Parts: sequence; structure tokens; C-alpha cells
Amino acid sequence: MSSGPHLQEFEYLQEVYRHTCEAFDRGELNSTQARDAIMRLRHTDVDGVTWKVDTTRSGRRAAFVRVNDQPAPSTVRRTVPTGLDALDAKYRDICAAYDRGELSATAARNEVTALRYTDTHGHTWKIDTQRSGKRAAFVQHRETPAPKPVRIVEPEPQPLPVAEPVREELPQTEHIPVVKSETEEFDDGARLLRLKKIAVLATTAAVSIALLITFTGGDETVTTSSTTPANTTDTTAPASPIPTIPEDNSDSTPLLASFANREAIPNDTEIEFGRSVQNRPLTFIRRGNPNGIRVLVVGVIHGDETAGLAVTDLLKKMEVPANVDLWILPELNPDGIFLKTRQNANKVDLNRNFPVRWKPLGEVGFWQWAGNGPATEPEVLAMMKLGKVIQPQFNVWYHQDYFRISPGLGRDGDIRERYAMLVDLPLLKIAGGTYSGTATMWSDTLNNNDTVSLLVEFGKGLREGEAQANADAIYTVVKEFFPS
Ligand SMILES: [Zn+2]
Repeated sequence: MSSGPHLQEFEYLQEVYRHTCEAFDRGELNSTQARDAIMRLRHTDVDGVTWKVDTTRSGRRAAFVRVNDQPAPSTVRRTVPTGLDALDAKYRDICAAYDRGELSATAARNEVTALRYTDTHGHTWKIDTQRSGKRAAFVQHRETPAPKPVRIVEPEPQPLPVAEPVREELPQTEHIPVVKSETEEFDDGARLLRLKKIAVLATTAAVSIALLITFTGGDETVTTSSTTPANTTDTTAPASPIPTIPEDNSDSTPLLASFANREAIPNDTEIEFGRSVQNRPLTFIRRGNPNGIRVLVVGVIHGDETAGLAVTDLLKKMEVPANVDLWILPELNPDGIFLKTRQNANKVDLNRNFPVRWKPLGEVGFWQWAGNGPATEPEVLAMMKLGKVIQPQFNVWYHQDYFRISPGLGRDGDIRERYAMLVDLPLLKIAGGTYSGTATMWSDTLNNNDTVSLLVEFGKGLREGEAQANADAIYTVVKEFFPS
């Protein structure tokens, strides 16, 4: 059954559902856009069962229903369009491939927007992504922007299910207020959710569809989040004595302490800055221009959230832009990775053990156990030492599988929004846990409180090209927001 971290996924769906309904109530989304946004919400639980929102039973809170298993063709059908019907068929193939995870949202959008059909009158048509649902809606493609209202041509066999008047652009309302819950104290006080991102959500939703089709009901199991078991106690940690790996006897890994200062730390060298509870070396690699913008990227802090390693692997190989002093730290929690646990080998949530705004949280076995005091864990102490040396200007931390970046204010907020856009993640508030003594609370205080800390929550796994998009986004953000 679902355990603590997985519970959050349903909470995430609830939050997106609520925001979408509120945006619809305010008239910022039309019913087609709102429905599409809601219908694309999915969660695959630990048992491999995929859930979607049951629109027939949802009210103020979403009810969930099991998604029917549907045999999927293994590849996208690629036919030459001979008419609007063929264009529509191709559109649906792309949507299905996206829903199966074979195409990223960006790739699916690119494919959809590239679709064209020229009729016998010489008019060229493309997909109207604003209005397309489970079937494609079409709009005439012109070199110059089309006059409004847009003329719609309906594909042959049946009329489009779009009853709404076309809303060409979403209003430019700046902010949506977000209700703050008692336990939410995340990060630097993010309070606002930008409407634009709801718009992105809805636009992305135009590429998602298939689930509108099926509601057979018969063999579907029904649940709501309120009935999801609230088991937040971690009982999976091994009971056997903790194995200890021997001292690293290779003399080839230099120690952080052997360098007088940051300037003395060489490039392209794996350097040890501490040891984990089970004596695994904690290491980093510096790359790029030692006089450039100092960027620190941490791949893994929660041991069962390892997707960030794909990004740090790329960063080790990619060319570093001329103005970047890159510090790559793949694994801050190697014991957790080995044990496949969120926590370190002492069962402490390292992301609650940092000394800034530390609070006691639960006890041993609680998924967010903060330890017996601030900075009790060797991994955290080592990180603090290293942070003091690096004094990063930009610090990225990767997590899973909450699928979002939390919005922020000011320059931080702009950076988060820009990064989220570049990597195609929704900008949504992180909630559902208690946030004290986190790594970003601490890293924000570095560099005279001027470090920009970015926490990225990937989904369950990385989509095609997502690691590369994140590696690229780091450099794009540095270029745009950190003039050298
Ligand atoms: Zn995490």
C-alpha cells in the first residue's frame, strides 16, 4: 500500500485539481481548458496501478478512479496526411504516445504544432492547440497572424466536441493567492502561484486526451484521497546491523582539507569532503572557469530519489560555459542510495537536519525525522564545510517525485519560473510535509544570504531528454540571471 511519500502524490493531484477549479470559477480557464487540465492528472502508485480523476464523482475534492488498462500500439503511427481526418488521426496518435510516456510534453507539442494539411483550394491547416481536445480542432495556417475570430473547420465524420467560445488568450492576471496550511513553511516564504503556469498546464493539457474516452465503470476500483491509508511511518529500514565499508585505501582521492582555500581547489578532480555514516566517501568535482559564477549542483540528498544523477552525469561531460565555476556533487546521501531509503543510515532525513530553522520532527522511523538536534549527521556537517568553501551563487537540489518547482518571490521567483518553463515542470507550491532545517534554508544563507537555491522535484522518473533539458536550463538561468 502507499506509504508516506506516495501519499503526497494524491495531495499533489488534489492541489492541481483545486487550482484548476478555482481558475475556472474565476473565468480564467474555459470549461474545455479546465477539463483537459483535470483529465490529464495521473498517478501511478507503488503497485503499478494508475489513477485518474473521476469527474463523475469529484466535488470540492477530487475522487480518483483506476485507469483502465488499454493495450497500446508500440509505436506512433506515421501516416502521410491526406486530409483533415488523417491530420486528426495523427494528432491522436501523438497524444496517445505522450500518454504512454513515449514522447515528452515538449516533443509531443512540437510534433502536434508541426502538423499541416493543404487542401485543394491551397489553404494550409494546422492544429489549434488552444481548442483541441480528444479530437483535433483546426485553424488555418498563415504566414501572418490569423485575424480573429478564428475560422474553424470541423473534421469529417462527426462534429468537434468543443462547445465553448474560443478564448484566444488567458487574462494577464498576475497572481493567484495560495492558502497557507499550518505545516507549510517551505523555503523562502513562497506565497503566490502565477496564473501563467496554470495556463501552461492547460496548454499542455491540450496534448492529453485519451482518458476522456473511457468511463465504463464496471471493473474500476474507486478510491478517494481521504480513504488513502495515512501510513507515514517508515517500517522498511533494515533491522540488521549497518554494514561498514572499509576506509578508502586509495590515495588518489584528495581531501578537501588539503587545500588552503577555494582558489587552490583544482578542476576535473574528484575530491573527498567527508564520509557518510557508513563511511562512504562524499565527493565533488569542480569544472569550468574558477573565476566564473559559482554554481553548485547536488544530485541526491534523499537516497530513494536518484533521478538527479542523470543530470550530474551530463554536467560532468558537457562543455562548461566560459563564465561558470561549476561544482558537481552527485551524492550527498550515498548510504541512503545503497539502502534505498530517503534517510541516511541513521534514519535521519538529511533535508530536515540542517541547522537553519531546525525543529524536532517526529522520532526514529518517521519519514521526516530531523534527528536529535541540528546538524547531527556527518553528511550535513560535511556539506556545511563544503558550502562555506564554495559560497555558491546558485545552488540546485534535485528531488522526486513531486513533479514541480515551488514558486517564489522576486529574483528567486523569476529564476524558478524561468527554470520551470525551460524544463517543462509546473510551478506549484510544495506542501504535504513539514519544512524546517532543509538544505535550501541553509544554502540560502551562504554567500552573505545571497545564494539562490533552487529545489527541483522531478516526477517518478525522467522523461526522454529531461536530464539534458535540466543541465541546459542551469546554464541558461546562469546566463540570464547572473551577469558576470
Ligand atoms: Zn526529496
